[in-house]
Amino acid sequence: MKPTISIITAAVVASMLMTGQLCYADRNVSKAEAEPANPQSSDVDIDPMVSRQQLYDRLSVMTGIPWYRLAAVDQYERTLSKARPKARPQLGSVVGVFIDEELWAGALNPDPTDNIPASIQWFNGVGRDGDGDGFADRSSDLDLLYSVATRFLQYGGSTEDDFSIGLWEYYHNSRAVQRIQQFSSIYAAFGRLDLYDHAFPVPVGTNYSYKSTWGNARGWGGRRTHEGTDIFANYGIPVRSTCFGVVEVKGWNPYGGWRIGIRDLNNYYHYYAHLSGFDKTVGIGTIVKPGQTIGWVGSSGYGKPGTQGKFPPHLHYGVYRDRGLIEWAFDPYPLLRRWEQDERRKLKSNH
Ligand SMILES: [Zn+2]
Repeated sequence: MKPTISIITAAVVASMLMTGQLCYADRNVSKAEAEPANPQSSDVDIDPMVSRQQLYDRLSVMTGIPWYRLAAVDQYERTLSKARPKARPQLGSVVGVFIDEELWAGALNPDPTDNIPASIQWFNGVGRDGDGDGFADRSSDLDLLYSVATRFLQYGGSTEDDFSIGLWEYYHNSRAVQRIQQFSSIYAAFGRLDLYDHAFPVPVGTNYSYKSTWGNARGWGGRRTHEGTDIFANYGIPVRSTCFGVVEVKGWNPYGGWRIGIRDLNNYYHYYAHLSGFDKTVGIGTIVKPGQTIGWVGSSGYGKPGTQGKFPPHLHYGVYRDRGLIEWAFDPYPLLRRWEQDERRKLKSNH
């Protein structure tokens, strides 16, 4: 089995490289952030966040599953669809859940477009009627989310443990289970869906400098090509979370030194390396918000735990996107520029 899997992986990677999908991440970031950044836009459409919240609340009443768990499943599915839009076209209007025809109707169902709840159930398909119109409709937001929720309910679904078992049975993928638990804890902590504000990783107004070093072989990132941006600043300058998220990794790495990894709701992994130390409130699983101090600028790394001073103090900041099989790094420089400008503008308007 193993050689087959790695051949498939290699083929997928090769085809991504050939079709230039590496650039996809950057385009998508600006798109993902354009929505919540303009809450007062003159758009007459109802805010999709409001529609989604209503949907989760309604389904929570129907199923007994807390809204933030339903939201986490939906958001995880949305990040998968954003990473592979051709394979996972949007089925409903606001949900991100994707269920293919075979899974929906049942593998042995002679009618792959079946929408009759009784026959779908007969063939052990996932499709259910959540909105009560008599049909299990793959383009209905409520039917889609209800169908997934129904699968979880087979394992209980109301306690966190039951829910995790349900996730495992549905996805058979420990990464999916971890992501959904992470998203769920972020939503539960803040009690809302709109969690896309950002902050620059060091306080704007302090002394620092950085430039675009994407792919630069001479960066201090510890990789063959430099996957990130180095922000040079003095020892002890606070390093702050750039996003709403959850701490996924914290500790020593031979290259990154004392480093922290934070997962956000776009399924991006934000990596902060070479710190001199960590804020004592931050541990694995801690929920953070933009601008929250997580550690301090240092020069740790390139040796055994505690090694420092082998290069000038700086923050190495990288962003990786989870694509299911592997994580792609993308250039954080344009994001950093934007967050810095936003914060400078905010500081000005406060004076
Ligand atoms: Zn670096």
